[in-house]
Amino acid sequence: MDSAAIIIMNLAPFIVFGGVVGGILGSLRCNVGSGIVWGAILGPIGWLMVLVLMDRRPVCPHCRERVKPGAVICRYCQRPLEPLPPEAPGPLAPESESGA
Ligand SMILES: [Zn+2]
Repeated sequence: MDSAAIIIMNLAPFIVFGGVVGGILGSLRCNVGSGIVWGAILGPIGWLMVLVLMDRRPVCPHCRERVKPGAVICRYCQRPLEPLPPEAPGPLAPESESGA
């Protein structure tokens, strides 16, 4: 068998494992795609990159701690968070009726 094929066969489980773990860690940082890619390529180094450098979670405006996306109240300072903008950005349309 081709030696290159043997090397790839031996590396495949590590690549898959790295990608799976990276994806799980990425899900903690709202960045599953990057977690899978970097975990598969770099293994544990990629996991660290995703955990430390690729954190996409929103930041609390009051205490600057990372909070869950969609959270209404910060779990650190217990203050209300700014509501997330709607998914489809468009012209500002006030929902409250302005008619007297
Ligand atoms: Zn906070």
